[in-house]
Amino acid sequence: MHSVAQAFQLLMNHLSTLGSQRMPLFDCLNLSLAEDVVADLDSPPFDKSLMDGYAVRATDVERGTVSLRVIDLLAAGQTPTKAIGPGEAIQIMTGAPLPLGADLVVKIEETTRDHEQVHIKTRCVTRGTNIVRRGVSARAGTVILHAGAKLSGLRIGILAELGQARALVHRRPTVAILATGDELVSVDTLPGPGQIRNSNEAMLVAQVQAMGAIPVPLGVARDNREDLRDKIQTGLRSDVLVLSGGVSAGMFDLVPNELREAGVQEVFHKVEMKPGKPVWFGIRDNTVADSKNSPATRLAARNYVFGLPGNPVSCLVCCELFVRTAIRRLLGEEPALPQSIEARLQQDFVAKRDRPTYHPALVTWTPAGPTVILVPWRGSSDLCGTVTANSMAFLSGQPKQYVAGESLSVISW
Ligand code: AMP
Ligand code: MG
Repeated sequence: MHSVAQAFQLLMNHLSTLGSQRMPLFDCLNLSLAEDVVADLDSPPFDKSLMDGYAVRATDVERGTVSLRVIDLLAAGQTPTKAIGPGEAIQIMTGAPLPLGADLVVKIEETTRDHEQVHIKTRCVTRGTNIVRRGVSARAGTVILHAGAKLSGLRIGILAELGQARALVHRRPTVAILATGDELVSVDTLPGPGQIRNSNEAMLVAQVQAMGAIPVPLGVARDNREDLRDKIQTGLRSDVLVLSGGVSAGMFDLVPNELREAGVQEVFHKVEMKPGKPVWFGIRDNTVADSKNSPATRLAARNYVFGLPGNPVSCLVCCELFVRTAIRRLLGEEPALPQSIEARLQQDFVAKRDRPTYHPALVTWTPAGPTVILVPWRGSSDLCGTVTANSMAFLSGQPKQYVAGESLSVISW
């Protein structure tokens, strides 16, 4: 059996970033840039005013000349037609280009106006006050954003400023989601004897969406070879296929075998962890011949396949740890591995000897830093018990009496 660290290493070894495509800026949130982006112009492209006020000459106001003749009015978007001479000022709005001769702007609040005359009330003004010079923010020809940068709102704003209406980004992976089990009924159905609702599908769709991938829900495959085989084939049209259920040691846990039959090579099966020990991961490289198929049946060049345990909390945790790492890797996000933080434990807690455990937990940010509460969780089928959780706290598996105030590693989702 692999350790969690080994499983992560195998994922990192086997996954690489998907190809790139140009996308409209509005669709680029959280995608990673696939090229360096250079400023095409100086930014700002001209010397400009940062305030509504009066453009003046420093030599006038420094010498104590406090009354100037207003010769023009400049709004943002206009270009100056007059230069300022000694004893003169131009009324100027925020964002307007600085007129020739002016080298500072006095805020409107620090002036009074009397017809053609403006009186400067403050003398705390020096050359450069309230103006920004051309090219201070970016020089034409310099790299502003580097390949690999994850596009936040801020960075999308920068791309817009640089004139990049379509950015070259790594494309989002498609992720097929296939629940398995004879006992599953749809969410809008009252379960009969022995039946349960298929909660994993909706959960996985949401998780995968939150990770920036495109979910493709495929419904349920029943626990027989024919149904599994057909639906696995459909799932292999996506970049990633995530199955839930059928990977444990039961008589009807047919998933690993059917995946092998479909040509998916096992990379790992079973990880020393709790919950989620039966988790399965494999890869299928598709032959060139496949690309001749019609678009409807065409396969991805390579498939990454996860078999997650059916118990909902195991399914949730394995998706957060392994599927998220894979998606981040495919999207070109760095770092791809889950990032933990240290949080202060809020309760005493006795940990028995066990497998390394990702315990559902509630992390709260306080002025003194993050704190964590382990939620009262009754095992891998207890999804409702985890209702307040927003994180997983890591317990090493060594028996230990934890005391409130100690620090615990947590991964938030
Ligand atoms: P399995 O991994 O198939 O052995 O399933 C383990 C447990 O998880 C069983 O109690 C299943 O009924 C439950 N389970 C499997 N699939 C789902 C699902 N899609 N939604 C909710 N529970 C499930
Ligand atoms: Mg099952």
